[in-house]
Amino acid sequence: MRPADFSLSCVVPAYNEAGHLAEFVRALHAAVSRIAPRHEILIVNDGSRDNTGEIAAQLARELPVRYLELSRNFGKEAALSAGIDHARGDAVLLIDGDFQHPLELVPDMLTQWKNGYDMVYGVIADRSFESGGKRVGTSLFYRILNFSSRVPVPPNAGDFRLMDRKVVEALRTLPERNRFMKGLYAWVGFRSVALPFVPAARESGSSSFNLKGLAALALSGMTAFSTVPLRMWGVIGSLISAVALVYGVYIIADAMLLGNPTPGWATLSAGLMLFSGIQLLSIGILGEYLGRVYEEVKHRPIYLLARDEDGSPLK
Ligand code: UDP
Ligand code: MG
Repeated sequence: MRPADFSLSCVVPAYNEAGHLAEFVRALHAAVSRIAPRHEILIVNDGSRDNTGEIAAQLARELPVRYLELSRNFGKEAALSAGIDHARGDAVLLIDGDFQHPLELVPDMLTQWKNGYDMVYGVIADRSFESGGKRVGTSLFYRILNFSSRVPVPPNAGDFRLMDRKVVEALRTLPERNRFMKGLYAWVGFRSVALPFVPAARESGSSSFNLKGLAALALSGMTAFSTVPLRMWGVIGSLISAVALVYGVYIIADAMLLGNPTPGWATLSAGLMLFSGIQLLSIGILGEYLGRVYEEVKHRPIYLLARDEDGSPLK
């Protein structure tokens, strides 16, 4: 089904990975040499502040490595997009450069690709190594997202995946700047299969995604894949108006027919606070989407390269 002399591109986004990048790339090269003799490793240096770039340049002189240097830190989603844009292989593997994605899974991924699957994605089988808060947050996020999005996004599937050239080309046609990659992989579709894996501990350094980073990613995922938060205010507004109408009739009847002096100060102030809160909230959500529309219409590139692919400065 797939060409016998297929080529494989491995995209490794790297942000401050100097501590273990050389070791990782050598291990990756050894692991894929056996199963895909024609391969390239594409290191995307995402504006690292350590000497990740020098290490990548050195590796490019020794191994089948190409390295891309972004002009600043654009974030993992942009780094992956840069890698996807420049990968040349018939199949493209996305893998973190910190040993968290097990290299042992790569042969199985390739086998599934040869079996005819266009996308083979790793699914985190066990999150017990993560903090309770992060687990609850992640599960809540996927529940809300999948409740409101038309395209189901598989929970616990990350960026660790192998894609056929046609999936890569499909991803490249998506022009949005707000790149929630996990959603985009699901959006393009194609024949996909999941492979469970247990992430290892980070080799050295620490994760770039703190609570704030994860919350921002969740927000960008929600707004990119669902318009429910935007549209639900129509329903909420209708419900509130219906209740208000009934209650209004009741108050008027109570005052006019029964002659009740209608004190109602507590009802009035509580109602006022509640409804101004709801209004600000809905305007805020409107602003969230509007801000993203603004980001999109500016049509800025998703990333900028600082150097040519061979590492020489851009002219
Ligand atoms: N990464 C990147 N740009 C960033 C942050 C991270 O290219 O702004 C890379 C990083 O070098 C690693 C991968 O994305 O290869 C995953 O990052 P990290 O290990 O920090 O996140 P986690 O594994 O906790 O999701
Ligand atoms: Mg990691």
